[in-house]
Amino acid sequence: MTERVRSLIFRLEREQSLPEREYAELIRGRDEEAAALLARLASEKRRAVFGNAVYTRGLIEISSICKNNCLYCGIRRDNILAERYRLTPEEILACADEGYALGFRTFVLQGGEDPFYTDEVLCGIVRQLKERHPDCAVTLSVGERSRESYQALREAGADRYLLRHETADPDHYAKLHPREMSFDNRMRCLRDLKELGYQTGCGFMVGSPFQTPENLAGDLKFIETFRPAMCGIGPFVPHRNTPFRDHAPGTAELTLFLLSVIRLMLPEVLLPATTALGTVLPRGREAGILAGANVVMPNLSPVRVRKKYELYDNKICTGEESAQCRDCLRQRMRSVGCFLAVDRGDAPGYTSAKKPE
Ligand code: SAH
Repeated sequence: MTERVRSLIFRLEREQSLPEREYAELIRGRDEEAAALLARLASEKRRAVFGNAVYTRGLIEISSICKNNCLYCGIRRDNILAERYRLTPEEILACADEGYALGFRTFVLQGGEDPFYTDEVLCGIVRQLKERHPDCAVTLSVGERSRESYQALREAGADRYLLRHETADPDHYAKLHPREMSFDNRMRCLRDLKELGYQTGCGFMVGSPFQTPENLAGDLKFIETFRPAMCGIGPFVPHRNTPFRDHAPGTAELTLFLLSVIRLMLPEVLLPATTALGTVLPRGREAGILAGANVVMPNLSPVRVRKKYELYDNKICTGEESAQCRDCLRQRMRSVGCFLAVDRGDAPGYTSAKKPE
């Protein structure tokens, strides 16, 4: 590692910020030694804020039906080979009941942009979830909606919302999405979510097609200024039935490096070690924790639909029952000195009682 890279890392640790061009310099100048130093500092930071607790979120993949056509995504509209399914409200509630018994106190409802889930339907699901499990947080991850819709869902009881910004550069955004999708609308959604009092998550894929270190520096600067409660990053993994089938996947190495940078930038952020990271590296999620991540998201979807929620090829965790998924992650976390917290796992500074403004 050069002296310059070492000094950037220590400055980042001290000031929790670097100028954008220096983020790019850090990314371009990184080597194994720099990654090890960053991971050590990030891991110490995670431990100082969260101790050895790793938060778990029970992921319920509610639908593989999507009206969008994102070029990277396996459930894009034009993928006629994708197997489509949709969980009924009853099925979603049953997944959550099972998850509750296993110790989950946060449920993440994620899916394609499926028109079936109107405000009325989705608000009903959120209300019933909160009624049955008032001590749980409900996180939604169902894409771009109107401000009114986000407000109605918030009033129905949704606590958090995950909407990756995907890239902070409008030109890069246009290369990853069809013309009918807009960077400005995605950013509008993120602003609305935050204003409505959601614990909001943004994020991006590492190694997405056409991504440069300068793009990544822009993503880091966006995250630093947006100050999300959560940040989801994972490697891009090509899907065989998408236009990006022949693009190289993102690396675990760069993903881990960026997890560490983000932990130093935002010590309190909720940072998952994602399934995609576990897909490109066998002990990827453990490595993610050691690089500064503090959240894992075991799958609670019914096993019969698991393979159909196929955003990318070779996705892991598609065969096991929910209990097995949780046990497997518990063991993996234990192997890196951590335990799974039975807790909502709010971002520090957020109180569970906070109501929509
Ligand atoms: N429809 C919702 C949920 C999208 S799926 C939404 O628009 O927010 C959640 C995330 O999976 C996406 O935001 C994207 O960053 C990621 N993803 C999609 N395709 C992927 C791929 N091929 N490789 C890795 N991650 C992918």
